[in-house]
Amino acid sequence: MKPRVFLGLVVSAGLLVTACSSISQIGTSVAVATGQISPGQAAAINQSAQAVQQSFQDFTPEQEYYIGRSVAAVILTKYRPYDDPAATRYINLLGQSLAMASDRPETFRGYHFLILDSDDINALSAPGGFVFVTRGLLRCAKSEDQVAAILCHEITHVVLKHGLQAIKKSRITAALTNAALTGVEVAGPSDVAQLTATFSDSINDITSTMINSGYSREFEVQADRGAVDLMKRVGYDPWALVDVLEVMKLRLKPGGNDFAKTHPDPAFRIEVVEKEIGSAQRSTTVNPERQARYEAAMAGI
Ligand SMILES: [Zn+2]
Repeated sequence: MKPRVFLGLVVSAGLLVTACSSISQIGTSVAVATGQISPGQAAAINQSAQAVQQSFQDFTPEQEYYIGRSVAAVILTKYRPYDDPAATRYINLLGQSLAMASDRPETFRGYHFLILDSDDINALSAPGGFVFVTRGLLRCAKSEDQVAAILCHEITHVVLKHGLQAIKKSRITAALTNAALTGVEVAGPSDVAQLTATFSDSINDITSTMINSGYSREFEVQADRGAVDLMKRVGYDPWALVDVLEVMKLRLKPGGNDFAKTHPDPAFRIEVVEKEIGSAQRSTTVNPERQARYEAAMAGI
């Protein structure tokens, strides 16, 4: 499809939304009752209105990346990166390997993992694959399997696009229409600025959900279940997630500005995770190579 034709379709879709919303002010049923339109026309209008309602699934990978990058920038105004090249390299190697085995191995410009220099027990994952984990959370882990458990939960948030789903439904169609009108192709810094301005409300929705209110309980359950599945797939012990949650149960302080605020209670999460693990036996052996590289990389955490 030629760009101009595509643009034309977007514009007519926009006009259709306007037309439909003015009719919906009267109400299609009233319009039918007063003889303005026939019942068949009313049904067609209602159907068209539904058809142009766009969802988070309609963001392109590029748009998701630029939204995620802006969300990541907001996170970095609140937290400092942890300056430890060995630990950062290790988290990235581990994270990339896990992401590659996930249901969404590729995102536009790939996954990025960064440790935040904070005692908070917190992790945040922005759309497109920007994953942040605090030192406080990593200190809840005592092995590579347990670090993998933390990363698998965050990767699942990215796989299932939970960040994009935090955008208020009412503004998705407008954001996408504006993005299409201003052009999706990003050629230079001014285009990025324009694109992020177009998505500024969407970005605010995501950051305020991630930092203040947290995702829904349902999304957190999905992330824990996804983490168990991914760990089994890669060959890590899924019981490691239970071990991390046990430590979090002891360390999270009520009223804390971290997982205590944004995630369900660890005791509840343990129940969910144990159910998902099912009959899989807890590993009783320690892989010496795995443990050695974990200790070498995370010594300073
Ligand atoms: Zn989560």
